[in-house]
Amino acid sequence: MRKLWAPWRAKFILHVKKDECIFCTKPKERDEEAYILYRGKYNFIILNIFPYNSGHLMIAPYAHKSSPEYLTKEEYTEMFELLQWSIENLRLALKPDGFNVGFNIGRVAGAGYEGHIHLHIVPRWNGDTNFMPVIGDTKVISVGIEDTYRLLKPLFERES
Ligand SMILES: [Zn+2]
Repeated sequence: MRKLWAPWRAKFILHVKKDECIFCTKPKERDEEAYILYRGKYNFIILNIFPYNSGHLMIAPYAHKSSPEYLTKEEYTEMFELLQWSIENLRLALKPDGFNVGFNIGRVAGAGYEGHIHLHIVPRWNGDTNFMPVIGDTKVISVGIEDTYRLLKPLFERES
């Protein structure tokens, strides 16, 4: 695959301190600063600022846990409820044709933060497969993150 210049990734690497876990630090910021869409009791929903596609969300527990088997029943039950709600809202806002949903567990599987699990939800559109790999470094994003956040945030403020 051809590598495109990705300045946001360079910035990302420079700004992340070695032992910092963004899934522990982001919830301490304001919603708009961290692109947090929703805060549940055990998990939060955050926009991926280095998305593989427009509307790429992540659901993470507040607890720093490295693998799903360490989640409590309350944590994984709520995580799945938030997954359902995220898919519902993404369908309303972005009208995708499908989704990729999943965890990368361990560095070998592609986890950027292997110590803290996060469930990826990636909207997919017919025709995007030719140039938008789900696993890979290069992507073309058609909708900016600010626009995506403004579009999605009100949907997550509705009563679920
Ligand atoms: Zn963490």
